[in-house]
Amino acid sequence: MLLVGAGLVGLACAWQLQRRGHPVLLVDPAIDGPPAVDAGSWAALGVLMAQVFHRSSGRGWRLRQRSHALWPQWLAALEAEGHGVARRAGLLLLASSADELARQQRLAAERQRRGVPLDLWSAERLQGLRPQLPAAALGGLHSPSDGQLDPGQAMAALLASARAGGLNVLSEAACRLERTGHGAGGGWRLIGSTGSRVEAPWLVLCAGVATAALLERLGHSLPMEPVLGQALELELEDGLEEGLDSLPAWSRPPGGWPGAVLWRGINLVPRPDLPGGRRCWLGATLEPGHLADPAALRDLRGWAGADLGWLSRATVIRAWQGQRCRPCRQPAPVLEVLEPGLVVASGHYRNGVLLAPATAEWVAERIAAGRGA
Ligand SMILES: Cc1cc2nc3c(=O)[nH]c(=O)nc-3n(C[C@H](O)[C@H](O)[C@H](O)COP(=O)(O)OP(=O)(O)OC[C@H]3O[C@@H](n4cnc5c(N)ncnc54)[C@H](O)[C@@H]3O)c2cc1C
Repeated sequence: MLLVGAGLVGLACAWQLQRRGHPVLLVDPAIDGPPAVDAGSWAALGVLMAQVFHRSSGRGWRLRQRSHALWPQWLAALEAEGHGVARRAGLLLLASSADELARQQRLAAERQRRGVPLDLWSAERLQGLRPQLPAAALGGLHSPSDGQLDPGQAMAALLASARAGGLNVLSEAACRLERTGHGAGGGWRLIGSTGSRVEAPWLVLCAGVATAALLERLGHSLPMEPVLGQALELELEDGLEEGLDSLPAWSRPPGGWPGAVLWRGINLVPRPDLPGGRRCWLGATLEPGHLADPAALRDLRGWAGADLGWLSRATVIRAWQGQRCRPCRQPAPVLEVLEPGLVVASGHYRNGVLLAPATAEWVAERIAAGRGA
């Protein structure tokens, strides 16, 4: 089958399909070239928000739950092949208003009834993590089983594993897609940027924001829009976890630092595994369109008004941006079989890293069901 797009979602699909015995040709100029400048996967922070999702039913909930179960299995399988991926358990959502605090309390009660471990952290409990956390936080919701992984390492691991298993790649852009026939006997032809022509019975599109344009030429209208995100890597004077040992036992977070911390929509992601052991990521802004706003970057640099001395003294090591792909007329993500043999797995908006394994499983199941399904 032809699979267009080697971001995290495309790589997850390629890896899964190939492990299930399907011959896959993965097409993307970024495979052996530089990462796509506007792609989401190279910009992502890798925060996995499954258990703290605000809904408790429906497709979004099911996909998140499935990915939550699959990621540990996938990472173990990749690690067994020698492809380690840095990851960290724990996610703390800080409440900045009484309404947010009340929402967290309702969510914790509902999840606890389902046996999902979510803990409410009082303002007193947060006291133990100050001065690292914003003084204005009224409380928090901690999820020990959500967390974060390094998306770049995950992509490298999936590609290396799939290639070792025989994945075929074409490192060029798909310029044109054509039908080679209709119905059960039909298939797809892809014409690449250097004139390569390849054919297969299945075509899977995971090309992020470019998916809509590729589909348009096939007569399908599935508009998607970019939402830009900026992020920063910072080096701190002291690591976030330094100093926790001196705290009284009651206020010390079990297992050390609570993991990624979300404050007013911006994640602080500790990265003690990066050189020097005192780095963190901060992101991401939410800016509809292609253009980065310097004011949004300033707000990000201050962690949305957190007003923290250690943060203002931190050094910016790296700044980057990428585009999330948001479907215009339907909820994210777009998982659809548009006609026999044509599968779309794109438009994952803010959760493509989390949803990659469940997406890949969905794609593999559609293909197993056959072209007539
Ligand atoms: C700043 C930022 C932070 C984020 N943080 C998180 C997070 O913490 N957690 C989370 O779950 N999600 C996060 N996301 C969202 C996540 O990154 C995306 O949902 C996900 O990466 C989408 O992956 P994808 O593979 O569908 O698309 P992309 O990563 O955009 O990849 C698309 C691929 O298609 C290729 N392509 C395009 N056109 C063609 C063509 N014509 N031929 C061949 N190939 C083509 C591109 O080269 C690219 O490699 C974040 C996004 C951003 C921007």
